[in-house]
Amino acid sequence: MTTNFNDFQISEPIKRAIKEMGFEEPSPIQEKAIPVILERGDVIGQAQTGTGKTAAFGIPVVEKVTQERYVQALILTPTRELAIQVSGELQKLSVHKKIRTLPIYGGQSIGHQIKALKQGVQVVIGTPGRILDHLRRKTLKLDQVHTVVLDEADEMLDMGFVDDIETILRQVNQERQTLLFSATMPLAIRKLTKRYMKTPKTVTINKGEVTAPLINQMYFKVLERNKIDSLCRIIDSEDIELGILFCRTKKGVAELTEALQARGYLADGLHGDLTQSQRDAVMKKFRDSSIEFLIATDVAARGIDVENVSHVINYDIPQDPESYVHRIGRTGRAGKKGLALTLVTPREMKHLRSIEKEIKMPIPSQDVPTIEEVVE
Ligand code: ADP
Ligand code: MG
Repeated sequence: MTTNFNDFQISEPIKRAIKEMGFEEPSPIQEKAIPVILERGDVIGQAQTGTGKTAAFGIPVVEKVTQERYVQALILTPTRELAIQVSGELQKLSVHKKIRTLPIYGGQSIGHQIKALKQGVQVVIGTPGRILDHLRRKTLKLDQVHTVVLDEADEMLDMGFVDDIETILRQVNQERQTLLFSATMPLAIRKLTKRYMKTPKTVTINKGEVTAPLINQMYFKVLERNKIDSLCRIIDSEDIELGILFCRTKKGVAELTEALQARGYLADGLHGDLTQSQRDAVMKKFRDSSIEFLIATDVAARGIDVENVSHVINYDIPQDPESYVHRIGRTGRAGKKGLALTLVTPREMKHLRSIEKEIKMPIPSQDVPTIEEVVE
């Protein structure tokens, strides 16, 4: 028995938009979370990346806001890219209902945001820092907000936003509904839910199986001194549409970008030292496939949802298992197949083992292709 979007208590304009977006049936997290959210309950939603968490809260949010011009829903996201992405998805969901959504983030002129807020918007999506900024300037009022969403909560906490989030939550009407979505549930999040949510219902998908089933995972044993050559052989023998390569540091991103560009690969890097417009330019090139490889640090890649990412390659193995789950979640999205490859040097084997423990399954190993195999 599969639920249909028609089974939900949602109005015709929203149903029509869902259909036009090509969503045929609700994903498991949507199936479980949407009815509870529509009944105004607090919900903690945990599901791996790429499982449709945005629409799980987005559908009830656009359903419930009225066309009256004041801020009724607030969505907090870890990055500006994600704020823009979520705003875009809500706009699509509400094309047949005249409501305004506004992404608010650092790096964009605050004057422009203040003007847009003055015109009256129903849903604000923003990063905690910039939202606080507006609250202090009194250019954003949250007293009539009835729904607050903490999206990608684990990533927001990783980025050090916990104090900002708490300050914001204390300024929103106590009668509000609070929703929290996250791929993982570390202790810090459970604490936050205890303090700021009212008898929340937890909706978990695929307990004990945190990585998306459509992601094939493999690791390659490599030596530090010929890591770049090993990487090139691996990518030369793979059929890659778009690939994200992860490095541990900004310096690593810069070095690998240079090394790949020097070898003629279409690659560009994304890291925290870039200006917003440089970041936008790189993301645009990646989205429209004018580059094949995006090289990034964990922070730079947070929440990014680019279609057709066929490969995630951990050039540097992540230090903590949760970041592995996030990284590989950039592929295998929306029912598509993805491949996650990890390069492991002998002294990093312990990291690999702790990752296997976290995802509760062994990652198979494969040999780096020989030159002959690549040339074939
Ligand atoms: P998450 O937040 O869980 O990582 P997203 O909300 O970003 O995942 O969704 C991943 C992709 O799946 C998006 O491109 C989204 O448009 C698509 N998607 C979401 N729900 C459905 C659905 N019910 N049917 C088909 N595609 C969907
Ligand atoms: Mg998400």
